[in-house]
Amino acid sequence: MYIVFIGPPGSGKGTQARCLAKDLDMAYFAAGDQLRYLAKQDTALGRRIADKIAAGELVADETMEEVIAAFLENNKGKSVIFDGFPRLSSQADILKRKLADEGGLDLAIFLDVSREEVIRRLSARVICQDCGAVYNKNTNPPQEEGQCDKCGGQLYQRTDETPAAIEKRLDNFYNKTMPVVKLYCRQGILKKVDGERVIDEIFRDLKKLISSLDTEAD
Ligand code: AMP
Repeated sequence: MYIVFIGPPGSGKGTQARCLAKDLDMAYFAAGDQLRYLAKQDTALGRRIADKIAAGELVADETMEEVIAAFLENNKGKSVIFDGFPRLSSQADILKRKLADEGGLDLAIFLDVSREEVIRRLSARVICQDCGAVYNKNTNPPQEEGQCDKCGGQLYQRTDETPAAIEKRLDNFYNKTMPVVKLYCRQGILKKVDGERVIDEIFRDLKKLISSLDTEAD
C-alpha cells in the first residue's frame, strides 16, 4: 500500500505520518528529514541542499528523484507512507513512474489547516535533534525547556522557521503543491482531513481511513 501525506508546513502531517507508519508497520519516507540528513554532509550537493532549505526553496527534482529511488530500493515490498513528497506536479509524475510496477498510489491524504494557524504553529515550533519529536512552545511544550520528553535530546528551532522562510514555504505550498492536491482529487484518491483538531482525534480518523482501505482491498 502506498499513501501520500500532503499539507502545508506545520499542518502536523509529519507527526501523524510518523506515528501511523510506526503503528501500521509501514516504511516512512520524510522528504524533509532525508534532505536535512544530506544537507549535513560536507559535499557540494549537501551545501546546495542546505542553502535551499534555509531559504525555504524547493530542492531540484533530479535530487528528489535520486533520493526517492534509493529509498524505494531499500524498502522493496514494503507499504510506504510518503510525507512531503510529491510537492510539485512534476514530482507526482516521478512518483507515478516509480510506483508503476507496484500498482500505483492507493491514497492521498490532505491535512487541511488554515494559513493563519500554520504561521502561529511554525513560529513556536521546536524539534528534537535526536529523535525528531515535535513540540510547540505554546500548545504542546516539553516538560523541561529545551529538552525532549521522549529521549532527552536537545530541542532546536529549524533554520527555515524564520518569518521570511515561512512565507516562502507557504507560498510554495499554495502555488505549487495545491495543484498536486487537485490532481489526486481528480484521480479519486484524495481524502481531506481537518487538521485543526487535537492530535489524537486526527490520528484516530486517519487510522480508520487507512484501515478501511485495507478492508476494501481484501
Ligand atoms: P519539510 O521538513 O517537509 O518542511 O521540508 C523542509 C524543506 O526541505 C523544504 O522547505 C524544502 O526546502 C525541502 N523539501 C522537502 N520536501 C521537498 C520536495 N518534495 N521537493 C523539494 N524540496 C523539498
